Amino acid sequence: MSLQFKIEATCGNARGGRLFTPHGEIETPIFMPVGTLASVKGVPQDILEELGAQIILGNTYHLYLRPGIDTMRRMGGLHRFMSWRRAILTDSGGFQVFSLNELRKVNEEGVTFRSHLDGSSHFFSPESSMEAQIGIGADIIMAFDECTEFPADRARMKSSMEMTARWAARSKKYFEDHKHEVPWDSSQHSAVSSRPTQLPATFHDQTQSLFGIVQGGMDPELRKESAERTIEVGFPGYAIGGLSVGEPRDLTRDVIESTLEHLPADKPRYVMGVGTPQEIVEYANLGVDMMDCVLPTRAARHGLLFTSEGKVSIKQARYAQDAGPLDPNCGCRVCQRYSRAYLRHLYASNEVLAQVLNTIHNLSFYLDTMRRVRHSIRLGEEFSF
Ligand SMILES: [Zn+2]
Repeated sequence: MSLQFKIEATCGNARGGRLFTPHGEIETPIFMPVGTLASVKGVPQDILEELGAQIILGNTYHLYLRPGIDTMRRMGGLHRFMSWRRAILTDSGGFQVFSLNELRKVNEEGVTFRSHLDGSSHFFSPESSMEAQIGIGADIIMAFDECTEFPADRARMKSSMEMTARWAARSKKYFEDHKHEVPWDSSQHSAVSSRPTQLPATFHDQTQSLFGIVQGGMDPELRKESAERTIEVGFPGYAIGGLSVGEPRDLTRDVIESTLEHLPADKPRYVMGVGTPQEIVEYANLGVDMMDCVLPTRAARHGLLFTSEGKVSIKQARYAQDAGPLDPNCGCRVCQRYSRAYLRHLYASNEVLAQVLNTIHNLSFYLDTMRRVRHSIRLGEEFSF
């Protein structure tokens, strides 16, 4: 076993649990900040630790193009490269290949695409995605899938889902044959062993864990079939992919709810690329254990802040002389120290500090929201805004 998942409390369909990884323990349900290029944009790693981030996400497509997998390996993997000792998850690169490359060519073997940086030609297959993700060395890595576009007709959704199922089997085969090649070294293991209360002794000689991804577009029957075929391949955790691709939000929710029914109750369930604060609470209440989204970090850089009193667009003139904190109910270092007037001034003046402070607050709000959800589950009360 390379990963252990324990459910310790339930409330309705929601589950409160713990996921044990080679780089520490994660309390679930969890929100994972996105650190695309070995950086959660604008936030130093020590502040991520202070905010209570237990796991962050890296993007294989971006890290493969820059700095490249060879550099990643030579630097001892992503944990060591970015000085992050806690858990990391990488996506397979599939989503970026599909969303950033209009000229991609897909066949059974894999996807040929052009770099968005310099136009150079590259090829991703289940095998090469696994090779890249093993080189990066995240604790949890994802099977290479095809993210079906929206809208798509049923024949297209079905053939895409079937290819994802075949790619899942190829991903697992390559991973099982090569998982010992992960570039973790003894210094990282000693970082783990310095926290003996958090990790069972059996975790000292661990490998990565590969999760499967359920596709099937917006069709509940195809989602069910995809879940069954992915479970047949067999993974220690399952993701629901292919959402947040332009579909209406109530459809996102319906697909999540109906797909969850077909996933094993004793394995972690991860919904990729969602959502607003309200949505992550709603999905946790449906029984989702893991989520990630660029929304809190990307919105922060555009001056859109999530608070206990609703959304705040800090650029507005009404905040120019507002001496109050951004969110009076937030304990983050930004709300404890700075006024709305100052944050508005930084943003209006295009100061780099605006992006830093806004991102710290938004991440704090998301992570705090999930902390409250976990607390509510343990009390047996459904959390809602
Ligand atoms: Zn705050």
